[in-house]
Amino acid sequence: PKAKNSSNLKKKESREGLEVRKSDDFSMWYNQLVQKAELIEFYDISGCYILRPASYRIWEAIQSYFDKEIKKLGVENAYFPIFVSASRLNQEKDHVAGFAPEVAWVTKSGDSPLEEPIAVRPTSETVMYPSFAKWIRSHRDLPLKINQWNNVVRWEFKHPTPFLRSREFLWQEGHTAFATKEEADCEVLQILELYRSVYEDLLAVPVIKGKKSDKEKFAGGLYTTTVEAFIPHNGRAIQAATSHCLGQNFANMFDITFEDENRFRKKVYQNSWGLTTRSIGVMIMVHSDDKGLVLPPKVAPIQVVVVPIRIRVNQEEINHLLDQECETYTLQLERRGIRVKLDCRNDKTPGWKFHHWELRGVCLRVEVGVKEMHSNELVIVRRDTGERTVVSKNDLCERITQLLDTMQEEMLLRARNIRDHCISVAYNWNDFMTAIDSKQMVLAPWCTETRCEEEVKRQSMEYSASRGYDSVEEQTNLTGAVKTLCLPFEEELNRWNISPLSAGSLCFACHSSAKAWTLWGRSY
Ligand code: AMP
Repeated sequence: PKAKNSSNLKKKESREGLEVRKSDDFSMWYNQLVQKAELIEFYDISGCYILRPASYRIWEAIQSYFDKEIKKLGVENAYFPIFVSASRLNQEKDHVAGFAPEVAWVTKSGDSPLEEPIAVRPTSETVMYPSFAKWIRSHRDLPLKINQWNNVVRWEFKHPTPFLRSREFLWQEGHTAFATKEEADCEVLQILELYRSVYEDLLAVPVIKGKKSDKEKFAGGLYTTTVEAFIPHNGRAIQAATSHCLGQNFANMFDITFEDENRFRKKVYQNSWGLTTRSIGVMIMVHSDDKGLVLPPKVAPIQVVVVPIRIRVNQEEINHLLDQECETYTLQLERRGIRVKLDCRNDKTPGWKFHHWELRGVCLRVEVGVKEMHSNELVIVRRDTGERTVVSKNDLCERITQLLDTMQEEMLLRARNIRDHCISVAYNWNDFMTAIDSKQMVLAPWCTETRCEEEVKRQSMEYSASRGYDSVEEQTNLTGAVKTLCLPFEEELNRWNISPLSAGSLCFACHSSAKAWTLWGRSY
């Protein structure tokens, strides 16, 4: 019976772990990972996913951090309805045109058709702004800063991917109104900085701040700023979060006006900004490996697991003492506010437990065996590097706290280093496409014309379609149009030692006069 048990265990172990390597088939690796690490359960409607407790806790960590920060800026939370009437939705023409194909409509109640179909919000500008028009009367009502944590529906036709692109997703949408454009401009950047901080300081994912091209900006807005992330394994960039200045477009449409100090009626300036559950997917893709999830300590639902290394046969007494010692450490860590789990299951081997918690992204593992029981030292293993550290039992809590901090810091540094090596500079089409095909993002002098961007998209698409691929994986990585990701802010260009464009610089694509360094790439 013993032999039978151990072979059963082996079979189970192999089914628990990942069966695909990140470098062999990235998308299958990701799909397996999000399910096996119990983050996502698939659902029978395409593009809709169940967020299981392990991923919802990460979302809660993001929420709690961001919510605190926006409250410091005077933002208040509220809730507006999920439905929007056709007449409201259609009020801002450019805006609705940008979303029209993705809007889901409710047309029936039971068997009876509704008199007027109602839309499910793809975003809430048109839901909120009629109320803004009512609430804002005088300059004393400004600024108005409202946020809501909610879900939106965008019936996307692009390939859905858990977290990154789903048809219903969770987000926060901030909507603010100001008396002056300067105040609105200032807030756009404050929020963008918070988005940077969520990605870099919390999720350890490096991002690039910049402005969107006219073609890629938010429909109906004045300009869009963005933080862009990058997935080195498949060479695809992804829009990580956006902070829009809407100017007075919506104020014109919804008649949002105020009386200033001199009793003149004026239109407000507005912003809107959003960060979604996409952030969780980006973090997973950037950090995780062939063993499973790797989570930065700040958002990891479990930061430390304590595993007793039991003696196999007839040593109940020692095993009992071992469990007790593990319990002591667990309590100590818990008291320090560390999210710790004790795994005393006696039907699983230590090896099985190691794999189990590695798959789920627990940051540190404390191993306690008989040797440790009789010494003053413990072994701690880091999830991201596999590094083993021997620590004295007396300063277990301090060392664990230190290791968690170091891990958080090093994960960002490592990811940023890799990301920076994925940026090339190109001045002509050939160098541009060569870099793109080596899974790079490309900084290039650009004329900033929409016509030129469309041409780059078309030509890069044609180029991708015409070339041969050595494998299906290569095809998934190296196909798709190239588009502008952003016009990076000066601070980013400075960090990469890119000097300002010299007079007479030409657009890499159409050879007319170049106006800005622009970051291009294949993207999600
Ligand atoms: P937007 O209101 O269009 O600027 O969207 C705000 C943010 O939502 C974008 O910057 C993306 O990061 C994210 N996002 C857009 N579409 C999706 C989607 N289908 N699923 C998850 N996140 C999304």
